[in-house]
Amino acid sequence: MNEDKERQNRFAADIMLGKLVKWLRVLGFDARTMLLANRAVIESLLCGGAIPVTRREKFRDIEGVVFIRSDHHFEQLMELISLVSISREEVRLFSRCILCNAGLDPIAREAVSGAVPDYVFETASDFRKCPECGRVYWPGSHRRRMIEQLESLTGWGLKEGEKGGAE
Ligand SMILES: [Zn+2]
Repeated sequence: MNEDKERQNRFAADIMLGKLVKWLRVLGFDARTMLLANRAVIESLLCGGAIPVTRREKFRDIEGVVFIRSDHHFEQLMELISLVSISREEVRLFSRCILCNAGLDPIAREAVSGAVPDYVFETASDFRKCPECGRVYWPGSHRRRMIEQLESLTGWGLKEGEKGGAE
């Protein structure tokens, strides 16, 4: 399942896995939700090079499908990391929009005036904007909490990746 590491994985998760998808996007992975209702959908995803992610028993034996057992999103994330052999080096923390999966663009401080709270405008740097929905992202306490949750979960050191895309 992981012979194709030069290209980034594209995950297509069943709609019931929305929280897992959110955390995959936090880590910078291309992840979408869709209704994986039948075998034809699964097979067309596989043909297109995407990785179907599902908890439906009826698909668990299809080659290339990531079958998730847990019903908790953090356990699901660890299952997926293990099954797909994701490594720390592939993580691009906060490089994608959590809402719509698009890659974020760097944006100058002057351009976010009025679009973020005043104290953020005064204190934060490294603003990024979603080209799809226009949401602006910046480092802050909310982000630090997410990093801490991910670090305790995965055992990876992620703090140095908070700025500049986790290189
Ligand atoms: Zn967006």
